Amino acid sequence: MALTNSPVRPQTARGRALEAPRGPARPEVRPSDQPPEGASAPGARPVLSFTAARRGKAPAHLADLDLAGRKGALRRAGLPAFRADQLSRHYFDRYVAEPGEMSDIPASMRTAVAQFLPPLVTEVTALQADEGRTVKHLWQLFDGARVESVLMRYPERTTLCVSSQAGCGMACPFCATGQMGLARNLSTAEIIDQVRLAHRACAAGRLAGGPTHLSNVVFMGMGEPLANYRNLIQALHRLVDPAPEGFGMSARGITVSTVGLVPAIGRLAREGLPVTLAVSLHAPDDDLRDELIPINSRWKVGELLDAARHYFVATGRRVSIEYALIKDMNDQQWRAQLLADELNARGHGWVHVNPIPLNPTPGSIWTASTRHAQNVFVETLRASGIPTTIRDTRGSDIDGACGQLATAVQDRERRRAGRAPTPAGTPADTQEAR
Ligand code: SF4
Repeated sequence: MALTNSPVRPQTARGRALEAPRGPARPEVRPSDQPPEGASAPGARPVLSFTAARRGKAPAHLADLDLAGRKGALRRAGLPAFRADQLSRHYFDRYVAEPGEMSDIPASMRTAVAQFLPPLVTEVTALQADEGRTVKHLWQLFDGARVESVLMRYPERTTLCVSSQAGCGMACPFCATGQMGLARNLSTAEIIDQVRLAHRACAAGRLAGGPTHLSNVVFMGMGEPLANYRNLIQALHRLVDPAPEGFGMSARGITVSTVGLVPAIGRLAREGLPVTLAVSLHAPDDDLRDELIPINSRWKVGELLDAARHYFVATGRRVSIEYALIKDMNDQQWRAQLLADELNARGHGWVHVNPIPLNPTPGSIWTASTRHAQNVFVETLRASGIPTTIRDTRGSDIDGACGQLATAVQDRERRRAGRAPTPAGTPADTQEAR
């Protein structure tokens, strides 16, 4: 691994050179010092992709449509429109998708209504952590694509992390999903069925602590949600619209994360859906972010933070800045100060920062910051008036980071089939799939 010293004297948002840190300068690790996480070829480099490798579309489902659309679809199938209300209440209120469990639907009609409720996500495996308060699922979709979701119980809330795409085209080099490339966008109903199953699991007491209510949904699983914009917006409506239209969840409990699709942030701000925006920033300077988050080659840090500030002004929702702390790469004090200056330059009270200790990967450059570096980073932000909370890393002992479980299961299956466990979804695999 090549180590380089910081090549550029850091500047604040106003161009003032920052004080040099006291003591010997720490080495600076660059994302390009080794191939992306999970890549098999030593020369592999992250490749942005916006085109889905798979062409197929998920079967049409009740949850793809709003209530008026469901009534129309039932009418066209020769069924009374009022049955759309009944089916919707079963699905969004009782979390039931099997016609056999719907006692108010005549037995003679159950086969006909089943066409609106095709099974969309099938469990491959479920792993528990945190003494049963965290459950990570690997789901298989109709075409064999696999996605993950994580259900996490906290004292004051229960949160589901959902996937919005199979694979991801954003190619972040530290992320296992990023090396799979984009298989395809999930349909609205494929996203929503992950949520229905989580609601059902909560109500049935599948998490330790007994029955609970799913209060929060975060779009931080596989995929870049804003790259699947239309289906994301439909899914947000299904989440917040009151039953029987949707689940009737509070928009305040819903978070959409992005690595920085700036025009889509502007569109989301105009949707009238006051969900929280989380920006996965991970570096406050273009020099590092160009390598760490490949989409930064299109939209720079300044444009991204301007869009995030605009989102706050348009919605009144405070923006979250997600910052994975990676040892000797992005965790220097001067970067914390630069981040604070960039945020403060755009106003106060509009943003808070969530540093996230990276899941340690022994022997890799993608490893967690030391506790000392983490504390200095957090204190630097707080001293500059930026509200900062270290984010909990639930389920880190169950292939907790996005894409790790899918990769681990695929490797296991390849071993059983007698094939070499090449890293799932390496750029080479992605090319083959296309
Ligand atoms: S970190 Fe998120 S946006 Fe980046 S490759 Fe992974 S899933 Fe995609």
